[in-house]
Amino acid sequence: MNEAAAKEAVYRIVRHSGLLANFVVREDDKLSTAVAYIKGNERVIAYNPAFLSAMLDSAHTDWSAVSVLAHEIGHHLLGHTLDPEGVHPGDELACDRYSGFILQRMGVTLADALVAIEVAGDVHGTLRHPPRQARISAIRQGWEDAERISQGVAEEPYVVERTFRYVVHLVGDANTYFVDAEGCLVWFNDHAEPIEFGSCTRLAESEFVHELTWQDHSFVVDGRNTIWRRTAHGMPMQVGRMEPFARP
Ligand SMILES: [Zn+2]
Repeated sequence: MNEAAAKEAVYRIVRHSGLLANFVVREDDKLSTAVAYIKGNERVIAYNPAFLSAMLDSAHTDWSAVSVLAHEIGHHLLGHTLDPEGVHPGDELACDRYSGFILQRMGVTLADALVAIEVAGDVHGTLRHPPRQARISAIRQGWEDAERISQGVAEEPYVVERTFRYVVHLVGDANTYFVDAEGCLVWFNDHAEPIEFGSCTRLAESEFVHELTWQDHSFVVDGRNTIWRRTAHGMPMQVGRMEPFARP
């Protein structure tokens, strides 16, 4: 995919959001994949052309590249690029949900909306992103939501039949996460189905009570509900709170 084609794809994606594209689209060989960031007053979407080409070769559809670009546009539209530091799994799932939604609006089948994640898996590297299964759920949820809207299905208040045990807040991350009765760590925001992306296990014979894990991340929770990140050297770092959940 050359730069002109990528710019055209970004224009088409944003147009389906009812906006006019004001992004700078840039090739960058130094990246391993694709990324959204702000530089000065510019909102940039940068990608490694070799990464997109390799994905197009194995996916056999241009929609794979479009879905990656849509995910990055989501980071800009949702304001995530204002705070580029930190690991926010809910932000990644929100952008996957957006890519599924917008591809449905563009007339793409669910199978084609999912093809990028299926051929490339962790398209932006594993560290920042939740596991593949959670990302597939998020894309599917966005796609199905767009389809319901296009079919004029009436909106109903969303009721979740799931028992949550704990609510998890991470420092600097506006998302809310929950731990359910089965020990699944889920992203949930009252307007969508919960998406499982990790787990919470009870620790025995440890100074800590619980361990939260997803992808390559591991945090421990002490008896006072503080979440810590264990660093390889030196002191553990406080990264959030895990409080017992009481349904309001
Ligand atoms: Zn992302």
